[in-house]
Amino acid sequence: MIRLGIDLGGTKIEIIALAQDGRELLRRRVATPRDDYSAILDAVAELVRDAEAELGDSGSVGIGTPGSISRATGLLRGSNSVCLNGKPIKADLETLLGREVPITNDANCFALSEATDGAAAGADVVFGVILGTGVGGGIVVRGHVLTGPNAIAGEWGHNPLPWPKDDERPGPACFAGHSGCIETFLSGPGIERDHLRAFGEALTSHDIGARAAIGDAACEATMRRYEERLARALAHVVNILDPDVIVLGGGMSNVQRLYAGVPALWRSWVFSDRVDTRLVKHRYGDSSGVRGAAWLGAAK
Ligand SMILES: [Zn+2]
Repeated sequence: MIRLGIDLGGTKIEIIALAQDGRELLRRRVATPRDDYSAILDAVAELVRDAEAELGDSGSVGIGTPGSISRATGLLRGSNSVCLNGKPIKADLETLLGREVPITNDANCFALSEATDGAAAGADVVFGVILGTGVGGGIVVRGHVLTGPNAIAGEWGHNPLPWPKDDERPGPACFAGHSGCIETFLSGPGIERDHLRAFGEALTSHDIGARAAIGDAACEATMRRYEERLARALAHVVNILDPDVIVLGGGMSNVQRLYAGVPALWRSWVFSDRVDTRLVKHRYGDSSGVRGAAWLGAAK
């Protein structure tokens, strides 16, 4: 049996088919129909049917998408594709496809992909972190995504940056109505704003990392602040969850120095005489969302 994963995003819908051993058998993408719930359902169903016809096999189906299914109502909420919010998308897809269709958010899919056969393969407890336009997280314990009654396990981007310094209070305002959230410091836009504030220089997060690597003093200072804040934010997670591995994804995860720099710093805040948690870069990168969705649907 094959494993089909769908990454349902605001602009595109991608499908992947994996063999039992994780080999990629097929990958397709289509544009997400605009503001049309039933057209989106049909597009997903068509991708599944076409993939199964092409491969001559049927499979499990899992879906990764922003937002979460409310355990209380079964309805999707918090999606940036607003026409999906308040809809029973899981039940409707199960009817359409005639099978169970587990759905979870993209950070959970990322964590599951990396924990299954990626950079954290074989680890018992994995915390997957997306450091991108936003900051999200997901937890996988012995091969299973942890969800919880509120379907928010791992969502630490809107917790406050821990152990804040005077000049970090109250911190930048965040869209969810708070200020000083981890996301406002550690997202791509967060480091760009921080650099602008400190040096009056508007650079992309990519350029800040690249210029620091060739000795630019201002960018180096910004990268050091970033590393130290990431160390504090992750130390807070280590004190609660004590994961074996923390895997980073998203644009900022491509800054190579984080993997030595952050573990050299987090000792100061982790409540232990030594820290054996490993901090690693993703293996599958942008593919982890859709691969994790495929593993989600798999009977293990
Ligand atoms: Zn926030």
